[in-house]
Amino acid sequence: MKNIVLFGPPGAGKGTQSAFLVEKFGFVHLSTGDIFRSNIKNATELGTLAKSYMDQGKLVPDSVTIDMLKSEWSKHSHAMGFLFDGFPRTKAQAEALDDILEEAGHQISAMIGLEVPDAELSIRLLERGKTSGRPDDANPQVIAQRVAVYHKETAPVQDYYQAQGKYKAISGVGSISDIATSLEQTIQTL
Ligand code: AMP
Repeated sequence: MKNIVLFGPPGAGKGTQSAFLVEKFGFVHLSTGDIFRSNIKNATELGTLAKSYMDQGKLVPDSVTIDMLKSEWSKHSHAMGFLFDGFPRTKAQAEALDDILEEAGHQISAMIGLEVPDAELSIRLLERGKTSGRPDDANPQVIAQRVAVYHKETAPVQDYYQAQGKYKAISGVGSISDIATSLEQTIQTL
């Protein structure tokens, strides 16, 4: 079973490329951002809590996020593989994910990072905000906060997987199909 973490700053193209990888490899796609947005849409208690952090560009607390991820993950016991998108975003989440998988006799195959310069991210996110309907894409201050949180809290997760020899970098700049091809080739080697 392949367990891939698709990594990268907000606006790197994780969502776009996930759709392609799910189609190509049949992964179960677990995007914590998507799950939070679906909870907001359905007006659940979890959605209300998550929204209060998301609207400010902050991370939802680890305990809430980890419990939710574990619960979603456990719904797919027959999956051929998982694509984790937007999770783990902190070292505590990475450690929790290792524990969850290890208990089931699995492990992360690789973290693949889509690397995109900061200046390009802000342009992409503001552009996406015109059509995505996401309040966190529409406000330049919230975008700046999300990129800052990425560097401070999420970037160390790369070191966590690098130390395990599992980090693979791919340029996230270029055409969507060229990036998809690089991702596909990288996953095929795992
Ligand atoms: P995303 O769709 O991945 O860009 O996530 C949108 C927002 O959801 C983030 O800015 C966070 O507020 C929240 N979020 C998503 N995934 C996580 C996570 N793994 N840990 C904490 N907060 C998260």
